Order: sequence, then C-alpha cells, then structure tokens
Amino acid sequence: MKDRVFNFAAGPSMLADEVLDELYEEFYNYQNTGMAVMEMSHRGKDYLKIFEEAKQRLYRVMEIPEEYEVFFMHGGATGQFAAVALNLLKGDKADYILTGNFSKKAAMEAMKYGQVHIAYDGKDNGYRHIPKQEELSFDEDSKYVHLCSNNTIFGTQWKTYPDVKGKILVGDLSSDILSRKIDVSRFGLIYAGAQKNIGIAGISVVIIRKDLIETPMAITPDILSYELMAKHDSMLNTPPTYPIYVLGKVLKWIEKSGGLEAIESRNREKAKILYDYLDTQSFYKPHAEKDSRSLMNVTFTTPNEDLDKRFVSEAAERGLVSLKGHRLVGGLRASIYNAMPKDAVEKLVEFMDGFAKENAL
Ligand SMILES: *Cc1c(COP(=O)(O)O)cnc(C)c1O
Repeated sequence: MKDRVFNFAAGPSMLADEVLDELYEEFYNYQNTGMAVMEMSHRGKDYLKIFEEAKQRLYRVMEIPEEYEVFFMHGGATGQFAAVALNLLKGDKADYILTGNFSKKAAMEAMKYGQVHIAYDGKDNGYRHIPKQEELSFDEDSKYVHLCSNNTIFGTQWKTYPDVKGKILVGDLSSDILSRKIDVSRFGLIYAGAQKNIGIAGISVVIIRKDLIETPMAITPDILSYELMAKHDSMLNTPPTYPIYVLGKVLKWIEKSGGLEAIESRNREKAKILYDYLDTQSFYKPHAEKDSRSLMNVTFTTPNEDLDKRFVSEAAERGLVSLKGHRLVGGLRASIYNAMPKDAVEKLVEFMDGFAKENAL
C-alpha cells in the first residue's frame, strides 16, 4: 500500500490515525459480537450501546447543558438549512448573517419557508471579513439569528459570537465544531455536518434547546422534524449507524487527547505556524482579513494561477495533498482540522518557503 499522505482537504477530511486504527481493529468482528458495526440492527442492544455512548460523550466533551437535546440526523448540513426553517421559522421572519457561501445557501433555503432579513452581507469585501457588532442590523420581528461559525471556503471564523439582543442564536458549526471550547448556552440551536472535523459524511449533529422543539410546518418531511427526532431519539427511521459509531470514536480520541482545551491550544499553535509564515513573506497573499482568520481553513494565493496549479501538484509529490482552493476563491486552501498533526503543518510551511524562493518573480 502507498504510504498515507497528509490530506489538507476541506471535507471529507483526515481522521486521526488512532481513530482509523480502532475502526480497523473492530471492523470485521466488533467486540466479539461476530459482526461488523455496519451489519448491526439499530435496535439491537450492541448498537444501542454504541449510540448512547456517542451521545453521552458529546454531552461531556462539549459540556452541553441538560436542557439541550442532541439529534443525529441524515441530510448533512444542507438538510439542516431546510430543517431549521421548517421547524423554527414556519412562515415568520429570521435574520441571516452572510459571511460566505454556506450562510448564503442557508438563507436561500430558508426563503422557501418564511421571510429572511439579511443582517449583514460580506459579498462586497469578497467574504474576507467577519462583521463587528455594529455592522449587524437585526430585524425587530425576527425569530432567530443564523450565522456560520467558520467559513470553510473563504477561511474566516467568528472569534466571539455576536450579541443577538435576546433573539435565538442558530449556528452552522459544520467546519469548527469540537475545534475549540464554546458556550453552548449562547445558542438556541447548533448544527454541523460531521465530515469536516468530527467524523465521516452521512450524519449531521443537532444540538437544540428543548423548549424550541415544537410542531414544525405541516409540509415538513418527517425525517426533518425535530419534534419527531425528539420523540424517537433520532431513530424515526434507520439512523446513519456507522457514521454515529465513527463520531463516538472521534469523541473518545478527543477525550484521550485532553478534551477541547487541549485540542484548541493545538489548533491555535498549528494555525499560528501558517499565519506567522504568511505574514513574514510577500510571495503568497492571504485571503482573509487578519482579525477574521480561521483556525481551520487557511486560504491564500500565489502570484498567478499557473503557480497555484504547480503548487498543488508539487506539494502532492511530497505527500501534502488536496491544497487546491475552492473554485469561488481560487488559489490554495490548507484545511487543518483537529486530526491534522502539527508536523504536517511544519512540513507544509517548509514546502511553501522553498516553492516561494524557487518561483520568486
Ligand atoms: C461543508 C459545509 C456545509 C455543507 O455540508 P453538507 O454536509 O455537505 O451538506 C455547510 N456549512 C458549512 C460551514 C460547511 O463547511
């Protein structure tokens, strides 16, 4: 087998070696049950134990207060763009803060099920910027404020969440959930697709304050109804059984690594290595404004598109793969989620420096 590479993809993305090792070990015959996890009935006691453990670990690691319910749902984060509106908006009005492509998509989806007031739009600055409090304008009648915590494509991230003036805060945390400690009680609802930072594709995690769970719009498909998710403990139909199991393994790895405080300080260290380098040279141009920079996705360009392309292929020859930027931004993007080791980031910077010297114009 070819050696494993350092995968800087934005998602699906790297899993920690320890996680993959455990999955591999348990693959064929899970803890002497005589079967693989993906063959198990979701109603059987072996699987229910896996399910319950993953859920409890999430409560523990994120310090989720008791008055919140956790759902494991299908449909990715995109499914939640609709679910949030179907369950909470229901024909009324909500504020959406547009800091990138995914928050825009969330707003477009919500427009099908109610009125959307744009509280901020970063389009004119190329989504390089996370708004300050005074740049936000909320609608008096809005029911909730939706934001995207980390903008995967543009490489910006909220450092602290805004004051939403007593409204319900709804957050898409798909690309930075479990990357740092957050105060869950600031939110009415948090959702995240798992394949960026906490597992594999096929599952989205929803954390919702219990008093917000009510009957959704009549047209709501059952699998997007929070009321039914709560009633059936995420098992209205067959849940994404294997992705839930993988999520449990990732959470176990986070606990063993020292929890979110340790994970956060490692993530800060890793991002600092890259940004410190970017700030001391003039070959590469970082995309995000300094105080809006993401700890998860570092976006930058070389002097031209040909060099961008060469960068991607020469990096790949050294086992540093998937560094191509999203088509909306172009250039390059290094996604350095929880599972990306620090020495891989150091290797990347070493490569960047060599490449810059070789290709200086
Ligand atoms: C990837 C991503 C999405 C879309 O996730 P899917 O699971 O593919 O629907 C939404 N929001 C953010 C912030 C993302 O990074």
